[in-house]
Amino acid sequence: MAENPAIEKENTEGTIEKMMQMKPFRHFDSHGHAGLEKKGIDERDGCMDFWCGNSVVSRSMMGARAMLGDPNPFGVITKPEECPNLSAETFVQYMDQANIEGMCLQAINGVTAPYGPDKKVWKWYVPNEYVKSDFIDAFPGRFTAVGGVHARYGSDEAVNMVISAHECGFPGIKFHTATAGYPNDKEMYPAYEKCLELGMHVQFHTGCEELPGTRTKYQSPEHLDDVAMDFPDLKILQLHCGIFNNMEMGLWNVMKHDNMYTDIVIPVPLLMHFRQYFDMEHIRFLEFFMPDKVFYGTDFPMTMPFYKAMLDNVMNMPISMEFKHKLTGNNFRKFVGWESKEKE
Ligand SMILES: [Zn+2]
Repeated sequence: MAENPAIEKENTEGTIEKMMQMKPFRHFDSHGHAGLEKKGIDERDGCMDFWCGNSVVSRSMMGARAMLGDPNPFGVITKPEECPNLSAETFVQYMDQANIEGMCLQAINGVTAPYGPDKKVWKWYVPNEYVKSDFIDAFPGRFTAVGGVHARYGSDEAVNMVISAHECGFPGIKFHTATAGYPNDKEMYPAYEKCLELGMHVQFHTGCEELPGTRTKYQSPEHLDDVAMDFPDLKILQLHCGIFNNMEMGLWNVMKHDNMYTDIVIPVPLLMHFRQYFDMEHIRFLEFFMPDKVFYGTDFPMTMPFYKAMLDNVMNMPISMEFKHKLTGNNFRKFVGWESKEKE
């Protein structure tokens, strides 16, 4: 006989008791992207490149175009007026359909290293102020965000970007390694110091990226080990868990460092296998080794065609209900100190 009544209960319950939710759980999407909305898209650097031209990223957006009513989603589009009619309201509609209370949006500030014969750079810019006004303030209780940071213009500018995110009320910053370079670049260290001072966390892209001018070498999760070693009190969220680059190292980072967390977002859903959402062994590994340190996110609107189905799949897996609730909501709520505006 088990001494602990909770253990005994778990051993005696049947499948229905273990699997069925007594009331619907409000989920949280830890990772979505503002900026691709039609309104003013040509004023935000790089955002049109998600929809326009014949590139890997524009092809992976064809599913979203179909969902948004484009009668010819496989056709190549080139102009802002041809971009699909995505808006902040679309985000809320999809969240409502999937029973998602809130989403953490990524404001982005990225400038690539020079590339190609003419040494051009590619910029991706989704301003903090835009995300705050058009999402967070427009839909109270539904969004939070992290502010874009890089050190291409020096350490002082990077610190200013942290301060800007703080002034917008964001709980953290996002360093998009694919454009911005190595996360353990010493030029970024004053920005991390600033985050510690202001009580903010840092999100780092890891894995792979199909955007123009992005280099894979910057995106290895191995570089985050340095940051976690040098800043043991800095809360670090490793985005994408190093998928297609070095996922094993991504998992190890979370097990090694108390201050390291990860999400299970797949960056290019139409082109990649779905290991992080559909592989039972993988999800069991997460449940066993890091049940409190992993977050469910989606890269919306890229995952628009499967937005609810992906979550339904996770909720139907034979893993504990406790872990499902942690993974799809409560871990991230705790991580950012989210206070729900909804009544119980
Ligand atoms: Zn993303």
